[in-house]
Amino acid sequence: MVYEKERKVAIEAVISACGLCREVQADLLSRDSISKGDRTPVTVADFGAQALISHHLKNAFPNDLLVGEEDSRLLRQAENRGVKEALMKIVHRFNPHLSPRDVLDAIDRGTAKGGPEGRFWIVDPIDGTKGFIRKDQFAVALALMEEGEVVLGVLGCPNLPLNGLASKGIRGSLFIAVKGEGAFIRSLEETREEKIRVDDVSDPSLALFCESVESAHASHEDTARVARDAGIKKSPLRMDSMCKYGIVARGDASFYLRIPGRKSYVEKIWDHAAGFIMVHEAGGKVTDIDGRPLNFTLGRTLDAKGILASNGRIHQQVLEALKNLLAAN
Ligand code: AMP
Ligand code: MG
Repeated sequence: MVYEKERKVAIEAVISACGLCREVQADLLSRDSISKGDRTPVTVADFGAQALISHHLKNAFPNDLLVGEEDSRLLRQAENRGVKEALMKIVHRFNPHLSPRDVLDAIDRGTAKGGPEGRFWIVDPIDGTKGFIRKDQFAVALALMEEGEVVLGVLGCPNLPLNGLASKGIRGSLFIAVKGEGAFIRSLEETREEKIRVDDVSDPSLALFCESVESAHASHEDTARVARDAGIKKSPLRMDSMCKYGIVARGDASFYLRIPGRKSYVEKIWDHAAGFIMVHEAGGKVTDIDGRPLNFTLGRTLDAKGILASNGRIHQQVLEALKNLLAAN
């Protein structure tokens, strides 16, 4: 198997970060959150998850670079001493050997620039912070880039039922994909994996699609219009985070549509890399809303306008409906 060690290490890293996030989410206290420039709530779990993953990767692959969403600037400020203390407390429950300096350094290893060359990891320690705070869905996402291509992705969804959306059984789904080897799912606790595939729905009247809960992140009005034009009958499934890529990959929904509400918003590579390979390896297709392939080689951001991740079969029909919307705007 190619990338065998990378796959194993990435799974361990994401599981450990999911454990930390679960604990913090269960005991979410307002004093554990501070704000940063873009007003995204940043929690202790965000920093803790990035620290654990970064440290894990450094031990296994000391020369690999990391592109991460967080840096430690806020934590180094005196007024955020309380956050730093809470961070150390929770990190020590998962790795008692890390000093405050180790933790801050681990977080700051995530400042790589990305780009078309070499090898680097991409981490979003908590995607869907809003969902996390609402005690709803969120994801821990890790991907590996090599020479301009996403070659591995691990997506931890601690609150996503393992056996389908309606299932009352095991909570927590871990999605794994390696280039050319397909996509798999397992629980966070047990190692048994199952291969997943996108659904085979091509009739829009039978298709379920998903979108963000937050209309500030993706326009509900625009997706409703596209859905109507494409002949979609079912109401959208709204869900926070990259879990949406996971549910398309395992065939719970036929597509995920993200139409930017704000034209100036620039998508980040950590918000899509792991989800992209998951859907792709599960037999689906991911483009922007103009139908252009996603390009992860431009640095920390994508030049994609919105996102359409689908089972492949329904992709063109949704793109056609998108053309009407884009022509009107
Ligand atoms: P979702 O869970 O689908 O609402 O998406 C969460 C992601 O939306 C986070 O990774 C944020 O970085 C990203 N985000 C934040 N603000 C915006 C915005 N104005 N437009 C699009 N995405 C955003
Ligand atoms: Mg994110």
